[in-house]
Amino acid sequence: MPLYEYVCPDCGQEFEKRMSFSQASETPACPNCNGTNTRKKISLFSSSGSSGSSLGSSSCGSGSGGFT
Ligand SMILES: [Zn+2]
Repeated sequence: MPLYEYVCPDCGQEFEKRMSFSQASETPACPNCNGTNTRKKISLFSSSGSSGSSLGSSSCGSGSGGFT
């Protein structure tokens, strides 16, 4: 099960909760103030601005190979 990070905007409490995919749409109550106004933090797996990836220059096609 994936681990989600949540933050409570009311008290600023951050907490993690392991939820299944069927529960992922639900928002758990804040363990600090028991508020249900918690937000899911999208922090994991976020690769921002990686446009210059160093992929190998794969120039296949032209050359030897008569696939016709
Ligand atoms: Zn709270």
